[in-house]
Amino acid sequence: MDNRLRDLVIIGAGVAGLSAGIYAGRAKMDTLMLESAFPGGQAALTNEVENYPAIDNISGPELTNNMLEQATKFGAELKTASVTGVELSGDVKTIHTTEGDIQAKTVIIATGAKPRKLGFEGEDKFYGRGISYCATCDGFFFQDCDVFVIGGGNSAVEEALFLTKFARKITMIVRRNELSCTKSIADEVLESPKIEIKYNTELVRVSGGFKMESADFKNNKTGETWSYAPAEGEKFGVFVFVGYDPESALFAGQVKLSENGYIIADERLHTNIPGVFVAGDVRAKELRQIITASADGATAAVEAEKYLK
Ligand code: NAP
Repeated sequence: MDNRLRDLVIIGAGVAGLSAGIYAGRAKMDTLMLESAFPGGQAALTNEVENYPAIDNISGPELTNNMLEQATKFGAELKTASVTGVELSGDVKTIHTTEGDIQAKTVIIATGAKPRKLGFEGEDKFYGRGISYCATCDGFFFQDCDVFVIGGGNSAVEEALFLTKFARKITMIVRRNELSCTKSIADEVLESPKIEIKYNTELVRVSGGFKMESADFKNNKTGETWSYAPAEGEKFGVFVFVGYDPESALFAGQVKLSENGYIIADERLHTNIPGVFVAGDVRAKELRQIITASADGATAAVEAEKYLK
C-alpha cells in the first residue's frame, strides 16, 4: 500500500497519460502515473511520426521518451504496476494494483486501446511465431522474406511501408475494393515496387506444425480461394492491423461505456463519476491521433486540478 493520498493517479502512460502527467506535474499536483508495460503505449511502437505539429519527423519512442522526461521533470512519478481493480465512487478512489493499493482524490483513465485480433484459424497458435501486431517490434525477423499485411487503414499502410526495409515482398490483404487510409500515404504504397495489394480479399487460415507453413485466402466477391507457401527452408510473416479495441474492461459497471466499450465523457472529459476523467484512445470520440490524445491529457489534468480546488 502506497500510504500517500495522491492528488491524481493516471492509469496508463501512453501519450494521453504522459501529457496529463506533464500538465498535472506542472500544476504541482501530487501525481502518480501507473503503467503495466512500457511507457509510451501504441505511439512508442510506431516507427515514424510525421504529423505532430512543428515536428517534421520523429520516431515514436523518441517522442514518447521526451514526454516521459518532461512529465517526470515536472514532478509526476511513474510506477510500473498492473491495475487489477478500481473503486472509483466516493471522495477517495482506491486503485488495486499488483504492487499494492493506491489511493487518490482524482483519477484519469488513459488505458488506450489494444490491437484487434482478426479471428482467422491459426491466429492464436502462431502468435509470436509468424503472426504479429507490431511491425516495429517484429519486422526485423522477416529480412528477405515474404510478408502479408492485413488491413487497409492508416496503420496497415504505414506499417507495410515500414516493412519494405526488411521484407522481400509485401502483399496487403484488403477486404474492400479500396484502401481506407489517408490519400497521401495510399499514394506511397501504390508506388512502392515491393508492395502488392490484393483487394476484396480475406485471410481464412494459417497452417503448419510448430512452424507456420502456409496461408489460405479467399476473394470475398468471386469466392475464389488461393494459397501461399514459402519456398523450402524459408519463413513468412503475417502482420495484422485491423483496428483497435478499448482497454476498458476494468472500469465496466462503474464508468459509463459506449456500445463498443469506449468510455463516455463530456467535452471537459468528466466521466459519470465525480473526480474520474478519461483521456486518449479509450475515450468515445471521432479522431484517435497522437495530438488528440495529448489534447485529452491536458484537458483531463486541468479538469482534475479544478475538481481538487
Ligand atoms: P482503422 O482506421 O479502423 O482501419 C482498420 C482497417 O482494417 C480498415 O482497412 C478495415 O477495413 C480493416 N478491417 C477491420 N476489420 C477487418 C476484418 N474483420 N477483416 C479485414 N479487414 C478488416 O484502424 P487503424 O488503421 O489501426 O487506425 C486506428 C486509428 O488510428 C484511426 O483513427 C487512424 O486514423 C489512426 N492512425 C493514424 C495514423 C496517422 O495519422 N499517421 C497512423 C496510424 C493510425 P474497412 O475499411 O473495410 O473497415
